[in-house]
Amino acid sequence: MEEKYKRIAKLLLNSKKCIALTGAGISAESGIPTFRSKEGMWEKYDPAVYASIDAFHKDPSKYWTIRGDFIRNYDDYKPNPAHLTLAELEKMGVLTSVITQNIDGLHSKAGSKQVIELHGTLRRILCMQCSKEYTAPNVPDGTPPLCDECGGVLKPNTVLFGEPLPAKALSEAQRECSTCDIMLLIGTSTVVYPVAALPKLVKENGGQVIELNLENAFPFTDYFIGEKAGTAMPQIMAELKKIKNNN
Ligand code: NAD
Repeated sequence: MEEKYKRIAKLLLNSKKCIALTGAGISAESGIPTFRSKEGMWEKYDPAVYASIDAFHKDPSKYWTIRGDFIRNYDDYKPNPAHLTLAELEKMGVLTSVITQNIDGLHSKAGSKQVIELHGTLRRILCMQCSKEYTAPNVPDGTPPLCDECGGVLKPNTVLFGEPLPAKALSEAQRECSTCDIMLLIGTSTVVYPVAALPKLVKENGGQVIELNLENAFPFTDYFIGEKAGTAMPQIMAELKKIKNNN
């Protein structure tokens, strides 16, 4: 395994442009269940009823019943060593950007600057009537919470089922994927489109994909590490620093 980490560290150091694409798996070690895990939210709650845009318009209290606690405890969730290593790689000039499907804000909390949030963020909460913005965890009481200016319903700035992805974020992500030579693909089952097409874009443009996941989810992966991201990322960083220090 050590050889594999060393090889990956060399690939990162020699790459012209390295990016990361992350999913729910990278935040599992921060205590946030993944989408498809047994403890996952959508095993308990039908997303069509609790987290689709149509359902939200009909009855926003259902969504706030399942999401409210996370938003009110937003500051309790901390980045883990995988988020922190990506932020350090960016600071060292090795990593250009992080594209994420996650809405938990943990990449920014870890210190990453170039973060493309494809599914939005729970950090920003907007009044659907007057657009007043709130920042988690500071939202008024109530299920759903109502705007203290106009009484409108508040909605986090995330993409609900049935809503399109933010066009700017998607086009930035596509540009990053078609211009990089290495992608770190971390903790995603790559089944949710259009995000699932992004690692393919890397391959179509001659880049390589390094996948860190508990199972090999992307069929065209060049290097697979079947370890928890919070364990593997610091190991890659340790090898990378050894190489740098020997040069
Ligand atoms: P997913 O649940 O479909 O897949 C998670 C993947 O992570 C799996 O392949 C699993 O094997 C892997 N994994 C689990 N623990 C890991 C670990 N410690 N290290 C490395 N890999 C690990 O998640 P997805 O592909 O991101 O798609 C789900 C959708 O749900 C996304 O749209 C995302 O926005 C949303 N979601 C977000 C969060 C969050 O913000 N933290 C949490 C759950 C779901």
